[in-house]
Amino acid sequence: MRDEHTIDALIVETKSGRRAVRGRVFVDASGDGDLACWAGAPWEKGDAAGRLLYPTLMFRVNNVDAVRAGDAVNDINRLMQEAEATGDYRFPRKGAIVRPQKHANEWRANVTQLRNADGSAVDGTDALQLSAGEIEGRRQIRDYMGFLRARVPGFESSYLLDIAPQLGIRETRRVVGHAMLAAEDVLGCRSFPDTVGVNAWPLERHVAGDVQWSWPPIPESRGFNHLPYRMLVARRIGNLLVAGRCASMTSEAQSAARVSGGCFVMGQAAGTAAHLALAAGTAPRTWIFPYCRRSSSATAHGSAANKSAILGSQPDEETEMKTLFAALALAVPLAGTVLAQPAGSGRAADAGVWPAKTIRMIVPFPPGSSPDLVARMLNDKLGTRSASGDRREPTWRGRQPGQPLS
Ligand SMILES: Cc1cc2nc3c(=O)[nH]c(=O)nc-3n(C[C@H](O)[C@H](O)[C@H](O)COP(=O)(O)OP(=O)(O)OC[C@H]3O[C@@H](n4cnc5c(N)ncnc54)[C@H](O)[C@@H]3O)c2cc1C
Repeated sequence: MRDEHTIDALIVETKSGRRAVRGRVFVDASGDGDLACWAGAPWEKGDAAGRLLYPTLMFRVNNVDAVRAGDAVNDINRLMQEAEATGDYRFPRKGAIVRPQKHANEWRANVTQLRNADGSAVDGTDALQLSAGEIEGRRQIRDYMGFLRARVPGFESSYLLDIAPQLGIRETRRVVGHAMLAAEDVLGCRSFPDTVGVNAWPLERHVAGDVQWSWPPIPESRGFNHLPYRMLVARRIGNLLVAGRCASMTSEAQSAARVSGGCFVMGQAAGTAAHLALAAGTAPRTWIFPYCRRSSSATAHGSAANKSAILGSQPDEETEMKTLFAALALAVPLAGTVLAQPAGSGRAADAGVWPAKTIRMIVPFPPGSSPDLVARMLNDKLGTRSASGDRREPTWRGRQPGQPLS
């Protein structure tokens, strides 16, 4: 650590020995929040009672007779119930997911549930529990293969093709960021002003012996929620972003937004934000401000008690706009890219009040570049907040806004 709020380097063990990877901005996409935890950022683990979602060891089977297997995708849980009723089988969980793959004779199975001797979920941040879980997972797979061959039409001659190289961990640490996605946000399909993408998956809670689903009302709702940028910005550590299943969410909300679509978009956003922050010479948190509305507009979309309302004090509109100008003043000399020229004299950062005159913005870089992203954010604010209400379209060299980005 450079100081208690700044990561200086990541120590890695490699084939070339121990190395330090130094950086100015770090993104923790470890799934477990390892970097955030070790750097001293706040985090949570499990629900109010400390319960984690249960992990699963996945596997694939081959030589399935696809014609005879027929509707096994839908029948599998009925077949498991019938098998259990005989007393010969006992499954670790209900809600098995058994699906054909690209080749009709090859299927994958998401059916195991890995627990410790006391029944609690295997904790993916505990090395001993992980090792025991690998063994328990193999035992459950062996038992399940016996069931498939004996009781499921089309699987009589199937064989175990492969086992996932590692336990599939669903939930461990969740890093506490400047906003925390909550279950109500998912079920209420909430919008956020600083959205970086969407999650369209329902709550999928892998509890002891079962999988519990909770969906937004469909078709009444649009069926997806926004993911706010602030859930990627770790508290306490100034140069740390978090992406993926360890981002800032409650345990319930994480059961939805942990799936791969949400993780992809969070990773993209964190990488982009890190790049923008570096280009502008600012901390990642600075990039919150261009997006932030006052907390009143954030709570207008949900209940006041909603945990994902903006946490902590937020800038009022005037501060926000000054911050924007400060960001612009920083972005111009440091990135050397966006030229903002208020008609008349005076630097934008000195304006204090919103300028009434036309602003001409020239972006001499291609759409999709970092300067372009900065310019679009600024233009959005400039347009929506101008005294006359007019939108001031910037000039893009070579290509105009609205045209597809490369
Ligand atoms: C059994 C199972 C089935 C699932 N099925 C689906 C599905 O059908 N559809 C879907 O969309 N989602 C599914 N998911 C959810 C989804 O796959 C994961 O939640 C998501 O991939 C998590 O992405 P991530 O980038 O946060 O973490 P990960 O994909 O786990 O990536 C983290 C990476 O960091 C590395 N790492 C961790 N710690 C360290 C360290 N200390 N040092 C160096 N490297 C480290 C890991 O090796 C890993 O490569 C499933 C999850 C599980 C467990």
